[in-house]
Amino acid sequence: MQASVLTDRSPSFALLRWYDSNARVLPWRSPPGAAPPDPYRVWLSEVMLQQTTVAAVQPYFARFVERWPSVAALAAADEADVMAAWAGLGYYSRARNLIACARVVARDGAFPDHEAGLRALPGLGAYTAAAVAAIAFDRPAVVVDANVERVVARLFAIAEPSPASRPAIRAATATITPSVRPGDFAQAMMDLGATVCTARNPRCLLCPLRPMCRAQAQGVAETLPAKLAKKAKPHRTGHAWWIERDGAVWLVRRPDKGMLGGMRALPDDGWTARADGHAQPPFAGIWRKGGVVRHSFTHFDFDLQLMLCEGPEMVHLSAGEYWPIEAMESAGLPTVFAKAARLALAQR
Ligand code: SF4
Repeated sequence: MQASVLTDRSPSFALLRWYDSNARVLPWRSPPGAAPPDPYRVWLSEVMLQQTTVAAVQPYFARFVERWPSVAALAAADEADVMAAWAGLGYYSRARNLIACARVVARDGAFPDHEAGLRALPGLGAYTAAAVAAIAFDRPAVVVDANVERVVARLFAIAEPSPASRPAIRAATATITPSVRPGDFAQAMMDLGATVCTARNPRCLLCPLRPMCRAQAQGVAETLPAKLAKKAKPHRTGHAWWIERDGAVWLVRRPDKGMLGGMRALPDDGWTARADGHAQPPFAGIWRKGGVVRHSFTHFDFDLQLMLCEGPEMVHLSAGEYWPIEAMESAGLPTVFAKAARLALAQR
């Protein structure tokens, strides 16, 4: 990778000067120009921020670092506690990889301080490894998230739609990534994309890159990056069973592999493993419909029919536990089941 040097006419110079007075203040960051932050906090924030907004991540980040203030503490945590603490943040494979990665780092004593070593850790893809290398270790790694992709597509007027444009965007980003303050540069690009070079109505008049921005000069900023027409999402349906007894509801632990793996949940009819099918209650009881929960996953839209058991006094179910309804919040249900629980409780 070729990192650029800073000259007062380079994009990185202009951007870093802007960043010095416009950086977002975030709990996992160091101020511009300061020593890099704790790699644990950088890594944790970057994993949480994958496909998730800064606003959604902040309370989770605060709870995680309060409960597990170091990678060693997280490595020693009970897996079920981490999964429950992650509930609601989505993309649950991230939480499983988080624990696996923490255990490797704790065993080795520290995070690797370079991109290749980070890339070898569980759950660290190319983006996260580059981001941690740049932000925590000030390595001149090429960091391209969705914000950076948009800024670079505009700066260089790259008209090809994503994902075909990614190699060109990455190559262009490499040409402007400086060898001086590369961590601040990566964060500055993210901040510029989040606050100035926004998807709609980019604020070009306030932008430090305006003098060198090709899309702005050509009047095409808002049309970039080009997008392919979105395909309609498929639709799935499923059933979940609400089995209540003495102020408690029956919850199961989902299998480790597959959607929402390892999470506590209501029992269901296996909808995650198929496109559609027949509802098969866990026992023959008197069931009534309790409403439908609508939820949108990345790859499909989903209707979950909630079924409430009004049947026998007590049924022995093989795997699971009766969870006190008054402690429902601490069950760590993923969002679709948390919605179903709220629906059931609203009918009591
Ligand atoms: Fe984005 Fe406008 Fe700045 Fe170009 S000038 S990088 S389009 S905000």
